[in-house]
Amino acid sequence: MNFVFLGTGAGMPAKARNVSSIALQLLEERKSVWLFDCGEATQHQILHTSVKPGKIEKIFITHLHGDHIFGLPGLLSSRSFQDGKNMLTLYGPKGIEEYVMTSLKISGTHLKYELEIVEVEEGIVFEDAGFVVEARKLEHGIECFGYRIMEKDRPGELQVEALMNLGIKPGPLFKRIKNGEIVQLENGTVINGADFVGEPKKGKVITILGDTRTCENSYKLAENCDYLVHEATFAGNSEELAYEYFHSTTTQAAKTALAANAKNLILTHISSRYIAEDVEELLQEAVGIFPNTVIAEDLIKIEIQNKTV
Ligand SMILES: [Zn+2]
Ligand SMILES: [Zn+2]
Repeated sequence: MNFVFLGTGAGMPAKARNVSSIALQLLEERKSVWLFDCGEATQHQILHTSVKPGKIEKIFITHLHGDHIFGLPGLLSSRSFQDGKNMLTLYGPKGIEEYVMTSLKISGTHLKYELEIVEVEEGIVFEDAGFVVEARKLEHGIECFGYRIMEKDRPGELQVEALMNLGIKPGPLFKRIKNGEIVQLENGTVINGADFVGEPKKGKVITILGDTRTCENSYKLAENCDYLVHEATFAGNSEELAYEYFHSTTTQAAKTALAANAKNLILTHISSRYIAEDVEELLQEAVGIFPNTVIAEDLIKIEIQNKTV
């Protein structure tokens, strides 16, 4: 599991930072990629990475501001030519369906794959055997969602070698042992299945927020998460500006991560008023409050691990 940051800037494209998009690669977990927001030229950014458009299984849109959706029609269209045959599901606020269907219709674009569009409400927006995704409304000028992606715990692995050493061969007995049953072997030995199954693997929790002021739902979405991706449009001393434009500062994002007991914080959606030389100062503002912070840069990959970054 890893993030590839495709665009980390706010509002409009800048040389160093394109507009918003994040790929969450779940290649081991489900052989697919989930995209969060799709600002203009996201498909161009993807060309510089190992992300495969054909593997994009789901796209989650936080809100309908242009810097988060103007790349959608192009990416959806190109995916047809990039081996994208599998169904794609697009999640987003009310209006996303009209926007996409109008763009595709007027441009005469015919997709070669099935596109499902889900206009989300607060609550669970997706669940299967491996993952649950919850959406909550944030505080932005228009309807805007944050997403909490919860990987389900996986059962521990069967200690095959230890069983083979006891002379037990793979077969029906293995299944009973894996289920934790107490089993009597042919030679009379009794073993407890639970002793031969490793610790369950705890699922990861990833929180990706759209543009927002500090708000209650940010804490709820980020509670005890492994990674919180939070916008930080402004520097710590610009709280009034951030409030006025429905955005957050570096320090506000750090305070949310701290209060929510997140393990790691990644800041993105950085205003183009800050140049490369300012980044260290922006980072230190957040680190002073929440040490495990990084500021995302375009095209960086961040591996999601058990340890902190
Ligand atoms: Zn934005
Ligand atoms: Zn916005």
